[in-house]
Amino acid sequence: MTAHPAEAPKGGLGRLAQVTAALNGWIEVDIAAIEANVAAVRRSLGPGIEIIAVVKANAYGSGVAGFAPALEAAGVDRFAVVWAQEALTLRRVGITKPVIVLGHAFPVDALAAVANEITLTVHSRALADAVAAAVQTADRPARVHVKVDTGLHRFGLTPDEAVELAEYMRGLPGVEVEGLTTHMANSDEADDSFAEIQHAGFAATAARLPWVPYRHTANSASALRRAELRYQGSRIGLALHGVLPANTPAEGFRPALSLKARLARVAAVAPGEGVSYGLTWRASEPAHVGLVPVGYADGWRRNLGNAATVLVGGRRVPMVGRVCMDQFLADVTSLPEAAEGDEVVLIGEQGEERISADEVAALSGTISWDVLASLQARLPRIYHRGGIVEHIFST
Ligand SMILES: *Cc1c(COP(=O)(O)O)cnc(C)c1O
Repeated sequence: MTAHPAEAPKGGLGRLAQVTAALNGWIEVDIAAIEANVAAVRRSLGPGIEIIAVVKANAYGSGVAGFAPALEAAGVDRFAVVWAQEALTLRRVGITKPVIVLGHAFPVDALAAVANEITLTVHSRALADAVAAAVQTADRPARVHVKVDTGLHRFGLTPDEAVELAEYMRGLPGVEVEGLTTHMANSDEADDSFAEIQHAGFAATAARLPWVPYRHTANSASALRRAELRYQGSRIGLALHGVLPANTPAEGFRPALSLKARLARVAAVAPGEGVSYGLTWRASEPAHVGLVPVGYADGWRRNLGNAATVLVGGRRVPMVGRVCMDQFLADVTSLPEAAEGDEVVLIGEQGEERISADEVAALSGTISWDVLASLQARLPRIYHRGGIVEHIFST
């Protein structure tokens, strides 16, 4: 992703309608919504608790080159990603706040991490030794975190392993064991009471490492639902996009991302004729179909064919036929004025209508995280404030 700051005249790059006039498909991200979401998280967490902004997976599809700087400007305290390479990307796009790598890293990642002030979650003596060697080579200190598995059985160490490794690293010159962490299994389930068992396990491990100052255990749902899991910082991903996990109380959030396209063709279909691969939808009356030039290669799932609706002319119209790699069709018979170039909203608002990531997720048999994170690089990311475009990121 590359920014195009050279194109930026005073007062932005123009209005959304102008900037997107010649785009087949694109993503709009509303910077004011990001700011509102940071403020809403802040209010929910309460004073003194850091927001660790989780911007893994290209900031959940919103484009990390735009999303992370907007979050930093809006005042989040730290960033987290899952791969070490993603942390280096954050430094490359100018992020200066602390960055934590939550997932598995290799000893060969240690030098770049230490040189770029990136905090690794260390899971082995081999990685700890590589961090200690990098401290010598780079001639700068390192902070590391240790993750304890409290029941998710994903990444992390048993309590005994975590304590043993933390004590080992305490003796390594220049290595500060700053953080102890875990991750909840049932945070957005209607019954999230397993968090109490996990929390007890975490607290028992933390009590054996009282000298480790920074603890973090909560994702969006856990942080918004359970005050006792917020600790020194909470790892907030989805909520910063203004999309909320199930069973999560929330006020003041606004969806930041919209997915849009422009009709590429409007064609008549006679009764009995079919559309798209397999001709799985056939017109029963004289119909008009609009061609939408976005497909499963962009992250618009194939199983949405014949199932979802999109917005054209401020109205919901049904998707018809199969979703192809680069395009799909919508039945616009109810919109006689529909024409090539008309805006189509796949996620977002048009007129009085709104399609949420949650709605798309439900129709696709998945969750909103998956819908957002699936959005692919071909879609330009247009960052705007109140409809005035501030940045364009395209591949
Ligand atoms: C992705 C992730 C988060 C953020 O989760 P949200 O539900 O999006 O807030 C937090 N912690 C870890 C370990 C993660 O992998």
